[in-house]
Order: sequence, then C-alpha cells, then structure tokens
Amino acid sequence: MEDSYKHQGMRRKLIQKLRDKGIEDERVLSAMGKIPRHVFFENAFLEHAYQDKAFPIGHGQTISQPYTVAFQSELLEVKQGDKILEIGTGSGYQACVLCELGARVYTIEYQKDLYERTRRFLPQMGYKPHFFSGDGSKGILAHAPYDKIIVTAGAPSVPSALLEQLNIGGCLVIPVGDNQIQQMLRLTKESEKKIVKEVFSNFSFVPLKGEQGWQ
Ligand code: SAM
Repeated sequence: MEDSYKHQGMRRKLIQKLRDKGIEDERVLSAMGKIPRHVFFENAFLEHAYQDKAFPIGHGQTISQPYTVAFQSELLEVKQGDKILEIGTGSGYQACVLCELGARVYTIEYQKDLYERTRRFLPQMGYKPHFFSGDGSKGILAHAPYDKIIVTAGAPSVPSALLEQLNIGGCLVIPVGDNQIQQMLRLTKESEKKIVKEVFSNFSFVPLKGEQGWQ
C-alpha cells in the first residue's frame, strides 16, 4: 500500500479544495489528509481517488464524496474517546476518518460481502473499529448508548431507534429525504423528551435499507 509523494500531493490539493468549499474544522481536514484514499480504489481507477466525488465500490454501493465525509464529520464535532455508531460501513473510509479523530467506532453494514471485505481490509491499514453486519436502521442496541450516530445512507425518515440509542447531549447526523435527494439533519438529544433539529444542505446518498429505512 504505497503512499507516494504523488499521492500525498494529490491529497493535499483535495484537502485545499474541501477548505475552499467551506469545511473549517482543521481536525477533520488533518484526519482526511492522513488517510490514503487511493488504497480504496483498484489500480485502474486510481486517478479518481483524489477527485471530490463519490465512486462505485461494488454491490451498487459507493465510497462517499470527500466533501460529504468532511461535512458529516464536521457536524459530529468528534471529541477524543467519543463512542460513535456509523450506519453504512461501505468502503470503511468514513470509519477511518472517525478513528483518526480519536473516536471509538462501531460500524454496521447491511451488505454481507462489503462487510466481509471491509472488516478484513481496514485492520491492514491500521484502523480497528468494531465491525457489525446487519440492519443498522435499528441501531445496535447491545452496545448502546452512543455519544454520536452518523448515517451514511439516505433515510426516508428519522429512525426512532437511533434517537433512543443516543446519550443525552449526543447527536445524530443523518440525510433524510426521497430516493434522489436528502437534507442533512443534525438532531441533538438535549433530554429524553427534547430533540433539537438543525437542517443543512442537500445531498444524494444511496438508500438506507431495512426495517426503519426503505423496505
Ligand atoms: N460510509 C461509507 C464509506 O465511507 O465508504 C459510504 C457508505 S455508502 C454511501 C452507504 C452504505 O450503507 C452502503 O454500503 C449500504 O450497503 C449501507 N446500508 C444501506 N442500508 C443499510 C442498513 N440498514 N444498515 C447498514 N448499512 C446499510
């Protein structure tokens, strides 16, 4: 897994592009600056690795656009030691960013083959989140509560299970909308009864499947 000067240079340019697009959290930018995104790509597609766009990773799924990863990571305001649940492991890139930010990461993937592939691959890069296979729209009750939850697939509505599994003071970052376009939401659990909702810009994710997702 070579990380040449050329790769590092391309990565620096990508990070500058994210800054130019409005990402301000230097911790997020620095974390993304450390992770060799090209190792998630097959050799034939290497030139796509440092473009600011999503890319197919097989099984109809994608590695999220770097801007989207940066935006969601910034909204999470990750603190060292935060216990974070990610719904939609996919390639594992977002999980690596959360690990770099010092979080304890629990990540769940619906597609069995992707789960197997990523569970084997990430430790080879030195990242060791806790991997789970199954329907993350229900969260992972056995390991709840979480300080933060991030959903990296588009949901039709906010799954109640995810709000229930948040610590007081914690937040859920989730894209919600139809099959084409979703609004990024941050829901902060101020008390058992009070959820504060913030609405951000539009994104386009693959659908969140499962019981509390798209059937
Ligand atoms: N976070 C990923 C990354 O960094 O590459 C990108 C994820 S991709 C945009 C969305 C992922 O969510 C897909 O891998 C998809 O299989 C997964 N997914 C969809 N519904 C899910 C569910 N109910 N539970 C867990 N994963 C789900």
